Amino acid sequence: TKSLLGNILPPPTPPDPNHTPSPAHEAAPPPLHALARPAPTSSSPLARFRAPPRNLSVTDLTSPAWCELQYDYALSRFGKLPRTARMISGTNVHAALEAEVHEFVPVPVQTKVDRWALRLWNVITGLRALRATGRTRELEVWGSVEGVLVVGVIDEVGYSCPDSELQVALAFSGAKLAYPAPGRGRVRLDAFSKGEKEKRRVYVTDVKTRGSKSLPPAPQLKGTQVQLGLYRRFLAQMVNGEFSPEMIWNRVGLDPEEEFSEEFVGGMADKGTEEDLKNGDREEKTGTGEANEYRTLGALWRLVQAEYAAAIGQEGVGLVMEAAYLSAEGEFIGRKVFGYDEEGLLAYVKETMRWWRGERPARGVDIEHAYKCGTCVFVDSCEWIKERAAEDLARVRARKRTA
Ligand code: SF4
Repeated sequence: TKSLLGNILPPPTPPDPNHTPSPAHEAAPPPLHALARPAPTSSSPLARFRAPPRNLSVTDLTSPAWCELQYDYALSRFGKLPRTARMISGTNVHAALEAEVHEFVPVPVQTKVDRWALRLWNVITGLRALRATGRTRELEVWGSVEGVLVVGVIDEVGYSCPDSELQVALAFSGAKLAYPAPGRGRVRLDAFSKGEKEKRRVYVTDVKTRGSKSLPPAPQLKGTQVQLGLYRRFLAQMVNGEFSPEMIWNRVGLDPEEEFSEEFVGGMADKGTEEDLKNGDREEKTGTGEANEYRTLGALWRLVQAEYAAAIGQEGVGLVMEAAYLSAEGEFIGRKVFGYDEEGLLAYVKETMRWWRGERPARGVDIEHAYKCGTCVFVDSCEWIKERAAEDLARVRARKRTA
């Protein structure tokens, strides 16, 4: 049954680049073959690409898992990853999935705090949809990584646990490949309570679209595992009240006591579907009659926390996470299940943040992952490749001299 709770527009500028249309790039792809690595600069990638009021996204932390240098090139050239045909079809599939559980209506937005209020209302209606229907989609979360604000949008959150003995075992074989930790899989497996399924926990799912009809091989799962781990961590931080909204207000420059515009409050209070109107229960179903009561971001944030407590509560967020794979046409291919590995996640994030902070240069792929270069648009001008080729040449010459 389609929820009537999520019936407001999504944020005008979604924070996750995977979900952000980029007409300019789609219309006229720039000549990529002639790219050179950007000139070295003293400022960090964080200062160059994510200076306030911008923030890091989950994608900013997961994309480097494929190749850090490729992401560095992409940011330097485009400010984000160029959108491929697969990403565009993925956006369409996500939009169709979201429309299965949420219904959208336009709301007038006049000011910066209005825009943020709309984002918070979408979180609130998403959490109410979770309680009413057992799942929600495109739930925005905020979190803190090493003191830096990070934003993400979780594809799906639901009460259905993807747990099973076999799936958890598979999850740990994936975890070991992504984060080499020999001998620790059994310990973590034991950490899963047999009662996990009965508890009213929530579980995160990410929906991936693929060009091929097969599941990705294990080496390609690292970014997905990091992504799901960050979603799970941020969701838990939100549920436990461990995330302070001051991070958002300070970063973006928002006054949590500034009142929303009358147009916005009136627009929100006025929304409902034709069916609701016929049934005479518009406000009860949509909950937007509360718009008059919550007129500032500070007040609305308290409602967000109350909705989290009501939807998820003490049982918290499950330790099992899932990636569901669909074809470009939306056909189900299969799923991969992961166990939450906090230690591995934090180790990865710490190392990736060193690059973001400019404490070390971006790295190209490890030699055993050189197959990734075969599909990379920067391969013709990649300095990492040139350096490897120069090293190979020097080795050959040295061998000849000693022969
Ligand atoms: Fe990374 Fe290879 Fe592309 Fe260079 S060519 S940016 S090492 S994937």
